[in-house]
This record gives sequence, structure tokens and C-alpha cells, in this order.
Amino acid sequence: MFLLSRKNEETMDWARSWKDTLFLLLEDVPYYLRELTASISIDGTSATTLIVNSTTGEPLWKPFLYNESCSDALPTVKSIAPENHTVCSGSSTLCKLISWWNQEDSDKKSAILLHQADWLLWLLHGKLGVSDYNNALKVGYDPELDAYPSWLLSQPYSQLLPSVKAPGTSIGHIKEDIGSQYGFPKDCLVCTGTTDSIAAFLAARATQPGKAVTSLGSTLAIKLLSTTRIEDARFGVYSHRLDDKWLVGGASNTGGAILRQIFTDEQLVALSEKINPVEASPLDYYPLQTVGERFPVADPKMAPRLQPRPESDVEFLHGIFESIARIEAKGYSLLKELGATQVEEVFTAGGGAKNEKWTKIRERVLGLPVSCATQTEAAYGAALLALKGAQQNK
Ligand code: ADP
Repeated sequence: MFLLSRKNEETMDWARSWKDTLFLLLEDVPYYLRELTASISIDGTSATTLIVNSTTGEPLWKPFLYNESCSDALPTVKSIAPENHTVCSGSSTLCKLISWWNQEDSDKKSAILLHQADWLLWLLHGKLGVSDYNNALKVGYDPELDAYPSWLLSQPYSQLLPSVKAPGTSIGHIKEDIGSQYGFPKDCLVCTGTTDSIAAFLAARATQPGKAVTSLGSTLAIKLLSTTRIEDARFGVYSHRLDDKWLVGGASNTGGAILRQIFTDEQLVALSEKINPVEASPLDYYPLQTVGERFPVADPKMAPRLQPRPESDVEFLHGIFESIARIEAKGYSLLKELGATQVEEVFTAGGGAKNEKWTKIRERVLGLPVSCATQTEAAYGAALLALKGAQQNK
């Protein structure tokens, strides 16, 4: 039974809808492919957290969604975690755990914490309490030590923490009843997953240090594979472990959202055709939707700058593209300054990736080869993790 007792909240049964969607997706896999499936993995939204019964796996509480802030727990978190640690944000998994722990009616004895991907994978393999070190980063797991730190283990709620494996590690075979009901082989493996954005990075197959993926969606996010780990809370920069390397990155508030505010997608295509990408635009903007920037400049008071607007929309768009490219270049320079591997090649994902003129502008401004990533779907990255698990298990 689901116990949805959080007060004054909408009654959307998230866990039920995720579970139903998972099984609908299994049914969507063509039958002939199901019997050929060697391995399965799943990515989920980072910091989307479930507290479940440690015997039945049923949610004890409505899931905490990724962007939900539990700032009531922030003073406690700040008092136990190292300064500027990733968990020191109201939406971190650790804040969610402590906020739940502090509720009077929480069932503390028989509870376990899982992330969205962990819980969905559990429905398939049936072994409760397993996570991966990408999802577990925001609850405080130390991917370098490959262990929970002592400041966390000494807390009473540490008993709820799941065990942690590398993403793409086999957990076990698919549950017999599910395997036979849906037609998956008995020896089909279920492997640990990762977060959505890491899965999307993996999809681009940027497997060498120095390879990067820029996501030009509503916002601008950059991710770079590095041999060194870097952290700087001022810029929201932290590193996820990927085997023996580190995935470093940052997200700016600039990006496609501001383009959509000014131009329709059709106008973007038509105006872009007239841009000469070889020429540098003299216009110097800082396109933001609202006040405030975090990366590559940490300035909560930074004002949007889109003036002067020339008469020609082609020149205006050229200036915006060029300015966003400069912010992207500054982002990669900052990662380098903070100690990351030098970027060598950039793959692009998101709505802006298809714009060839913008790609050419970015190549010139970044001084690097830039291309459109062949695969950008997070699901493709999760499938690569499943492949890794199957290969390790051979
Ligand atoms: P998200 O998933 O972050 O909402 P998408 O990856 O779907 O975003 O990308 C949408 C963005 O892509 C929009 O903000 C839009 O301005 C931008 N976009 C769409 N078409 C083009 C184009 N031809 N050139 C540049 N940007 C584009």
C-alpha cells in the first residue's frame, strides 16, 4: 500500500506512475527483441528520492522530486558536511533524507533510501538497497574513497543508505516472474544505472579525457571528461566519477530559452541562413532570462544584457550566438583553471545542436572541433551501461 501522507500536497502518485510507465515500456519492446535482451539498465533524475519499506520496497512517503527544496534540513547538513560540499543545497538527497527523518511520524526502523533509478531497477531485480555512485553523490557518497564518509556514517539515519556500486555493474538476473511474464531470458542481467544527465553524456560516446559535450537546450550546460577531479561550489562545479575518470561540468543560465523569447524556431532557421559565421560579430551581449548567473561567473546580481539591438535581426541573432559561444568558451577555460583536463573536442546536444551556422561560430570562438553528437538520448547511455555490465559478466 502506498502511504501518501505529506500534507497539503497534490495527490499525484508519482511512484505508481513511474512503475506503470516502466512496465508499459517493457511491453513496448518488440517481442523478438525481448528474448534477445542480455542486460538492462535505467537512468533516473538526480536527487529524486524515495524512502521505502526495507522489506517490501513499497514507498513509505511520497517521493521527493529532484527540484524539491528541503531547506529545513540545511542547517543540520551544513553542521555535519564539509564546507561547500555538494550536499549543502536544499534540494540535495541528504537534505531530503534528514527532512524526512525529522518528521514525527516517520517509520525510522524499517526504511531505506533509494533514488528513482535504483527503485525502478529494484522492481526488475528484487534486491533491495542497491545504488550507484553517480546517483549517490548528492546523498554524500564519496566516489574517490568509494565509501560513505565518516561524518555521514556517524549519523543515525545512515542506516537508511543504500550500498553503492559503479554504474553498469550487474546486480543480478531479472526476477523470474517478470522475465517469464514479459518474455525476457532467465539470465537477463539487471545493472546499476546512473543519472539522466550522465546517461545523456555517455550517449555521445565521449570516452577519452578532453572530449566534451555542450548541451544547447533551454540552458547551456557543459560536461568534460577529465583525468582530475575538480569541485567549486561558487560556480556549481563538481565532478562525477566515471570509472577511472571524472565527469566535470557546469551550467550557465544563458541558452536557448532566451532565443525562444525573441524568435520562433522558424525565424531562427531563416535568419541563421543569412549569417556569415566566419565573421566575428562586434556585439557583446550576456543573454539571460532573469537576473543572476552562476557559471562561468558566479554573480547572483548579473543583469541580462541584450543591448544595443541592431536594426537587422540577422546581425542581432549573430550577436546572440557569438555571445553565447563566448560564455561557452569561458566555461571551458574555467574548468581548465580549476584543474580539469584541457578540452580537445566538443560534441553538441540539445535544440541548438542542429544549427550549422552556430556550430561554425562556436568552432571559431572555441578554437576547437565542434560537431553534433550522433546519439543524445539518455536511454542510449543507459543501454551502454547495460552493455558494460553484460561484458563484465562474461
Ligand atoms: P530543453 O530540452 O532544454 O527544453 P531542447 O534541447 O529541446 O531544450 O532545445 C530547445 C531550444 O533549442 C530552444 O530554446 C530553442 O531556442 C533552441 N533552438 C531550436 N531550434 C533552433 C535553431 N534552429 N537554432 C538554434 N537554436 C534552436
